[in-house]
Amino acid sequence: MALTKKQLGDFEKQLSQWRSDLEEGQTENMHTMHEQEQNAFPDPTDQASMETDRNFELRIKDRERKLIKKIDQAMIRIRDEEFGMCESCGGDISIKRLQARPVTTLCIDCKTEQEQAERTRRD
Ligand SMILES: [Zn+2]
Repeated sequence: MALTKKQLGDFEKQLSQWRSDLEEGQTENMHTMHEQEQNAFPDPTDQASMETDRNFELRIKDRERKLIKKIDQAMIRIRDEEFGMCESCGGDISIKRLQARPVTTLCIDCKTEQEQAERTRRD
C-alpha cells in the first residue's frame, strides 16, 4: 500500500463531497422532472421535445447513479485499505491517476490492456 493514512483520508473526503454533490444534483433533476409532468403540452412538437429532454435527463441520472455506486465502492476500498491497489494485477495505482480519477480500480497498464482488449473485440 503506497498511500498514507492522510492521503486515504483526503480521498475519502473528496469522494464523499463528490457523492453529496451528485446526490444534490439528482434531487434537482427530479424536481425539474416533476414540474414538467405537471405542465400540459397539447402541441405534439412540444411533447416530443419534452420526451427527448426527459430521455436525456434519465441518461444523465443513470450515469450519476452508476458513478455514485463506484464512489461507494471506492469508499469501501478505502475502509478495507484496498484503495489504490489494482484490481487486476494487485500493483499500486499511481497517486496522479487516483487524483484524476479516484473511482478507478485498475492501474494504467491494466486499464490500457483492457481498453485494447475491448477494441479488439469490437473489430
Ligand atoms: Zn494493474
